[in-house]
Amino acid sequence: MSDAPAPSHAPERPSDLMDKVVSLCKRRGFIFQSAEIYGGFRSTYDYGPLGVNLLRNVKDTWWNAMVQRRTDVVGLDASILSPPAVWEASGHLANFTDPLVDCRQCHQRWRADKIDGVCPSCGSTEFTEARAFNLMFKTHAGPLEDEGAVAYLRPETAQGMFINFMNVIQTTRKKPPFGIAQVGKSFRNEITPQNFVFRTREFEQMEMEFFVPPAEGQQWFEYWLNERYRWYLDLGIPEGQLRLRHHDADELSHYSAATADVEFLFPWGWDELEGIANRTDFDLKAHAAASGERLDYFDPTTNERYVPYVIEPAAGATRTMMAFLLAAYHEDEVGGEARSILRLHPRLAPYQVAVLPLSKKDTLERLTHEVLSALQPHFMCDYDVTQSIGKRYRRQDEVGTPWCVTIDFDSLEDRAVTVRDRDTTEQERVPIADLVAVIQRRMDGA
Ligand code: ATP
Repeated sequence: MSDAPAPSHAPERPSDLMDKVVSLCKRRGFIFQSAEIYGGFRSTYDYGPLGVNLLRNVKDTWWNAMVQRRTDVVGLDASILSPPAVWEASGHLANFTDPLVDCRQCHQRWRADKIDGVCPSCGSTEFTEARAFNLMFKTHAGPLEDEGAVAYLRPETAQGMFINFMNVIQTTRKKPPFGIAQVGKSFRNEITPQNFVFRTREFEQMEMEFFVPPAEGQQWFEYWLNERYRWYLDLGIPEGQLRLRHHDADELSHYSAATADVEFLFPWGWDELEGIANRTDFDLKAHAAASGERLDYFDPTTNERYVPYVIEPAAGATRTMMAFLLAAYHEDEVGGEARSILRLHPRLAPYQVAVLPLSKKDTLERLTHEVLSALQPHFMCDYDVTQSIGKRYRRQDEVGTPWCVTIDFDSLEDRAVTVRDRDTTEQERVPIADLVAVIQRRMDGA
């Protein structure tokens, strides 16, 4: 059967890319509306069987680059619930606000800096005065709902790194320059959550605080800009859809010496994936002053005591996952038939391998399980025995599985299987004994 792709189409994005990706996410089990059977809970999403793999791979790939492959960064998993003192000192209680306005005509509420003076719902230009709306979720810890029991869900993971600075220094014997990395959930009571999982009230972040001698701040800021920009390119975001945007002086936070965003070309325009900032010594000094604890570093080689500067690359895991999906979505033709395909990097794909016995007959069952058992310790595998082989290939292309392994009746004789490549559709006969090594080599070369 002819399974070669038609001469490659210009990689233009379909005009309805967003609709297509959102519908694919639901149809194939990447992302579901949360509490859907109760009518849905706005701005919250559940990650289905494929989405959870993709999201996990995004986070693991980040961790691999930021922690595992380095000797100067260690990990942390700090609590989500935290006392007001943390957010008082960090400035979030006073300043973590968005300007909230009410439309005077339809009474909908909007974030003033996102609507260009026109109500997106009714078109009116009449609004109330903007007021500062704090984005932190407030709750009570324990059985008493009084002021003394107030706690907050963290709106970013970063503060966990600052308040554990001394714990980490003392237990790991790290010294600047070194970093603390964390991946986890954050919560913001966004006024207008929008664009699917781009802006939600509950989301996941991947953040790293890199502590350096103050004089080295600018140099490390530039280092991390390059590292982080390259990470997205290496994982397949095309160069034309990625850029670094430096903040102008009037856009900088009061504590920041320099900030740049990694931006992706979303269907609605350029928007932020990650912010990289030189936060100076603001955070450690603020927590030292508020807690009365010393948060600095004594350098025994120079006999100097100093408060390190912090370079922070702060990325969104869920938002980045969405960018990878948008960048990966393509449509082409194979054997005269249209197909949609996710050209996800093999490290990100929900499944690296799909194992497809050609027939449902029992005769292939034992060998199929043998192949699966060989692959499963190394790769996330799907197994599909329904429908024609052509249809099964399409289903795997659509969710981004880079390699399909087909087991046929010859396999019983020659102990070999066919490995089919998602992007080229080329097929290669591979001995079962070599299968893991062959796929591993392809992964490493991707
Ligand atoms: P924005 O300007 O889009 O509100 P921000 O500049 O406040 O974002 P940061 O505080 O720098 O964002 O957070 C770091 C990263 O966390 C962002 O680049 C983004 O990827 C992610 N992020 C922030 N808020 C959300 C959200 N509501 N939903 C999903 N991801 C988010």
